[in-house]
Amino acid sequence: MPGEFALIERIRARVAARADVALGIGDDAALLSPPAGKQLVVATDTLNSGVHFPEDTAPADIGWKALAVNLSDLAAMGAEPAWCMLSLSLPESDEAWLDGFLDGFLDLARQHAVALVGGDTTRGPLSICVTALGFVAAGVALRRDGARVGDEVWVTGTLGDAAAALAQRRTGEIDAPLRARLDRPTPRIAAGLGLTGLATACIDVSDGLLADLGHVLKASSVGAEIEASALPASPALRAAFDEEARRAQQLGGGDDYELCFTAPPSRHDEIAAALAACEVAAAVVGRIVDGPGVRVLAADGRVIDSPRGGYQHFGESDG
Ligand code: ADP
Ligand code: MG
Repeated sequence: MPGEFALIERIRARVAARADVALGIGDDAALLSPPAGKQLVVATDTLNSGVHFPEDTAPADIGWKALAVNLSDLAAMGAEPAWCMLSLSLPESDEAWLDGFLDGFLDLARQHAVALVGGDTTRGPLSICVTALGFVAAGVALRRDGARVGDEVWVTGTLGDAAAALAQRRTGEIDAPLRARLDRPTPRIAAGLGLTGLATACIDVSDGLLADLGHVLKASSVGAEIEASALPASPALRAAFDEEARRAQQLGGGDDYELCFTAPPSRHDEIAAALAACEVAAAVVGRIVDGPGVRVLAADGRVIDSPRGGYQHFGESDG
């Protein structure tokens, strides 16, 4: 069985170069040259087997998702990704598993010209920790604390597919398009870049729309009204679930990795144009109001009982 260094060499042999990586994998630390005048944006997320992905997930899908969720955090800041670090905890030294994992990880890295510049390799329960680094012009990062009363609330893409895949998994077969959304989320990098200077606040939907929008509202000291009928749903989700189940998945289900952002109505057309330019669909789903909290409205204006939103690892009982 190959040892730790053989595995690291297997990784090193496959990583792409970048001009701003003065020293990558192989020394005690990487040497990186960030562009002058930019702020460095850093995000890290861990994926544990059975918690963040089903145990039967293909290695390539785990690799893709481990990087995607981190690039999604950079997207939500309006940052341009550049580098990443990869800490792997593996139950055994399995070259075939590692090769599959790298297929997915490096495929997504290549699509965004991200260089893998270092990491750590240890034995233990299957767990993957990625750190992503990127750049943003000073002062233009999309933060959670800028939403203002009167802003529109937008979401990119569609919501609920990943939660729907997990729901189907509990009872049987998962529809392929839903499974693809769960296993291979699309980090909305171009959309995030396009929204700098336009959006007032932004977050990626990793724990569910209500939970993640809730973070924006809290940071911005405002509230929101969401129109249930405006929530964008994929054809696969519409085909597989009735309206009530769908609404719960769209409001409470995590793992979609779409962007939820706010902006004044005066910016509506510019935003629509910016997102159309990068071929990302987006919809206005509500508005920012005096706080606190989120109210979900039916088409006739009635307040709908909304499900408690969001996945929390330590299960805060009072939400
Ligand atoms: P050290 O003992 O100095 O921490 P390591 O043996 O852990 O060094 O790592 C050697 C080199 O390999 C370092 O450059 C490190 O960043 C890189 N490395 C280790 N594991 C990984 C990994 N899973 N992915 C990418 N680079 C890695
Ligand atoms: Mg080390």
